[in-house]
Amino acid sequence: MCDAIISIVYTYEYKCELCKEYLEEGDICEECRSKIKLCKFPIVLNKNNYSVRCYSTSYYSGDIAKLILNFKYKSNFRCGDILAKFMIELIEREKIQFDAITFVPMTKSALSKRGYNQSKILAKIIAKRFRLPVVDCIDKVKETKDQIGLDSEERWSNVSKSFRLKNSKKIIGQSILLVDDVFTTGATTYFCAGEMIEKGAKDVIVLTVAKSRI
Ligand SMILES: [Zn+2]
Repeated sequence: MCDAIISIVYTYEYKCELCKEYLEEGDICEECRSKIKLCKFPIVLNKNNYSVRCYSTSYYSGDIAKLILNFKYKSNFRCGDILAKFMIELIEREKIQFDAITFVPMTKSALSKRGYNQSKILAKIIAKRFRLPVVDCIDKVKETKDQIGLDSEERWSNVSKSFRLKNSKKIIGQSILLVDDVFTTGATTYFCAGEMIEKGAKDVIVLTVAKSRI
């Protein structure tokens, strides 16, 4: 009896991040993984004469939301690794091609408050896997106002004034993968993508962890 307990303790070093079951290896068990519903098709946003393909690994609910919240607000970087793996799998499954990776930035004050930008961390993990550079090319110059009570056009203009492109030389002629955590209206990612396309990027593909139904 004692031997059996000891062997369990020593054989299974890892726990599933979601259900806390012991695992022989990895970070999430097969059962929890099978419950996560993957998004099958990208959204194509069309506005201002350019269109952007936006991929999300899953929908914003249940376990994915739990992983995102733990990563974003509780500094649980293991959750970030799990989410980045989902994103890497999607890139491989969809055979998405790109030359460099960038991420949706935070304002300086938001960054100093949280201490890290979760989208930048995801971008770095993905970049390492594909051996491609992370390009820091967008600044968030203004905190986005509360979107509640704004109509669709107001939401877009509200967001458009919050971001500013920098280092545009680094994106000229390049296909850029733009990474963010949650896709809601698409305004943030679409505006950042549009700025890069207008300043000479060949193509921008958006990849988010989860798509929120609004
Ligand atoms: Zn589990």
